[in-house]
Amino acid sequence: MRSLARVLVTGGAGFVGSWLCERLLDDGVEVWCVDDFSTGSPQKVAHLAAQRRFHVVEADVSDGVPDPGPLDAVLHLACPASPVHYLRLPLETLRVASTGTVNALELARRHDARFVLASTSEVYGDPLEHPQREDYWGHVNPIGPRSVYDEGKRFAEATAMAYRRTHGVDVGIARIFNTFGPRMSIDDGRVVPAFVRAAVTDRPLPVAGDGSQTRSLCWVEDTVDGLVRLACCDLAGPINLGNDQETTMLALAHTIIELTGSRARVEHVALPEDDPRVRRPDLQRARELLGWEPRMSVEEGLKRTVRWMEDVLG
Ligand code: NAD
Repeated sequence: MRSLARVLVTGGAGFVGSWLCERLLDDGVEVWCVDDFSTGSPQKVAHLAAQRRFHVVEADVSDGVPDPGPLDAVLHLACPASPVHYLRLPLETLRVASTGTVNALELARRHDARFVLASTSEVYGDPLEHPQREDYWGHVNPIGPRSVYDEGKRFAEATAMAYRRTHGVDVGIARIFNTFGPRMSIDDGRVVPAFVRAAVTDRPLPVAGDGSQTRSLCWVEDTVDGLVRLACCDLAGPINLGNDQETTMLALAHTIIELTGSRARVEHVALPEDDPRVRRPDLQRARELLGWEPRMSVEEGLKRTVRWMEDVLG
């Protein structure tokens, strides 16, 4: 077990990053949060600003990662993560997944620090194996609009492993599946905020296609706990982090309508190009090697997200 005293989080002012910074601070760690605020914002970490051990640095990690001195770990989360953002920022997404990852790895190498890559279930593409185990190589369209993200993360994984083999950097790869909770951007098109926002404002819930496609939704503090466990060990991974309770998008829409008591109906909209049909992590590795599994039920997580959205929308 590694103990963490000083950690740098790229993308720390994003949705997952903000929860990760908070968790690390709660654990007594000094945290350097580096972010260019392209898809995140200083507001997401404003509640942490008064803490003496918390530092926010505005920087584009594709240009270089600021070096705050000795570090025990570099947790690399910086990357546009929702389709709305990476389709709007295709070249920036490729750049941060490639050059940004190299820069973050160089920082970890300089300080002999643990490096954790926030990779994604999107490396499995539209999977031909179900559920997805880490030894499945994926089914990705390399030239479609989503490829900037999917192939970017595949490149990032390859780079991390090459640094491990070539330079001995202590690299760990987390493949994160759909994560949800408060502080998600409410307008970035991801399914939970899109559905919850529509439901609490009594507007139609936009269900793509016939809604039979599945996702597995993991509460953000569970995902963050997996990332911290991975940071504290020396496993290379990759390791899936997600919830193995799978739901169709249509069922999710109806659950959210029920939880909010909304009068809203479902509205079927066009299916995005290369939208994966199914998604469910195989968690055997996470359970056996990290002693990790999701703890929060999807329903309770959704209730908390609804309460947060109601506050945000006033
Ligand atoms: P997010 O967009 O909320 O956070 C990403 C953060 O990175 C933002 O604060 C953004 O401003 C910052 N960023 C982007 N490009 C940058 C750059 N060049 N330099 C510095 N900062 C930059 O997204 P998120 O949902 O919090 O995702 C965080 C990470 O987790 C991403 O790497 C994403 O691929 C991965 N992930 C998330 C999910 C999920 O469901 N949320 C699933 C799989 C993987």
